[in-house]
Amino acid sequence: MYLIVMNITDFKTDVKLAPYTSIGVGGPADYFYEAKTADELKDAVLTAKEKNIPYIIFGGGTNVLVSDDGFRGLVIVARNNNYEINGENIDAGAGIVLGVLLGVSVKAGLQGLEWSAGLPGSLGGAIYGNAGTFGKSIGQFIEEVTVLEPSGDIRKYTPDECGFRYRQSNFQNMPGTVIISAKLKLQQGNVERLKEEIKKNALWRAQNHPPYKSCGCVFRNATFTKEARLPQDENEPVQWFDKVPVGWLIDQAGLKGKKLGGFTVSDVHGNFLINDGTGTAEQLEQLISEIKKDIKDKFNLDLEEEVRRVG
Ligand SMILES: Cc1cc2nc3c(=O)[nH]c(=O)nc-3n(C[C@H](O)[C@H](O)[C@H](O)COP(=O)(O)OP(=O)(O)OC[C@H]3O[C@@H](n4cnc5c(N)ncnc54)[C@H](O)[C@@H]3O)c2cc1C
Repeated sequence: MYLIVMNITDFKTDVKLAPYTSIGVGGPADYFYEAKTADELKDAVLTAKEKNIPYIIFGGGTNVLVSDDGFRGLVIVARNNNYEINGENIDAGAGIVLGVLLGVSVKAGLQGLEWSAGLPGSLGGAIYGNAGTFGKSIGQFIEEVTVLEPSGDIRKYTPDECGFRYRQSNFQNMPGTVIISAKLKLQQGNVERLKEEIKKNALWRAQNHPPYKSCGCVFRNATFTKEARLPQDENEPVQWFDKVPVGWLIDQAGLKGKKLGGFTVSDVHGNFLINDGTGTAEQLEQLISEIKKDIKDKFNLDLEEEVRRVG
């Protein structure tokens, strides 16, 4: 039997969430707690459950859209950033920053995570949304995920049970489930070559992603259907199969540079909506609906949000 040692008075109250998100919007959480260890993370969740307080976990806050009204419940920021390296395995807390995980893996001469250079957020957030780029994603490197289930039990999930697929995992359909830590499986590599690869990937990111307040790609790449009416180059017809890049669709729809309140559709990458620092969640929500409508009207494609709404 796990003993809870925390009390509701350990939580801060009425904390504005915008500073805990990369896009910089969002009202207050009724309760707020930063968990520095796995035990603190478990305790905070179990305390919330005991007091019947709804809760949600934040990692880096780089893929969330918090409403202007905020969250009526407890926001727990996972900051449990411990790690241990055993051979080609790394066990790490969900709160470890992905860039730190990459750094320690390379220092240990382990290869696998180079694609993630410059990708913001925590390991827990990356697992939740199966974050990835350059055709790779975190799920490919996971051997086991330790989870606190809504029942209060701790359970280990195999990669199959995690259900990793394009920008998704089964955890997205398991409300109340908390990723506590994970075991990654990497391979021996050449440190100098890994550093070169990381430099190249970080440079690509710096050149292709706008360096302003955003939540990265707002939409998942669209699923191609036969009914889609996509722009074609008469000289070089494109054969579409599975996914259509949303940045390209937004560009083709002439939406780059579109403004709404403090938000602009980035000129650099159409799937990034940039906050000039004055934007509100309401404006962002409205811009998202307008883009969805435009893409539907022009190309008969439905856009799905990658960003997670809170509150
Ligand atoms: C500039 C920029 C570039 C980006 N580029 C990419 C990219 O190339 N590829 C990509 O895939 N993404 C990208 N993103 C999006 C984002 O960085 C990733 O999705 C990242 O993995 C989110 O991690 P996070 O810790 O910030 O999650 P958060 O935003 O804190 O949370 C996201 C979701 O995960 C849940 N969650 C977080 N931690 C836990 C946990 N421990 N247990 C249970 N649930 C949890 C939250 O409740 C929320 O629903 C980018 C974002 C930005 C701002």
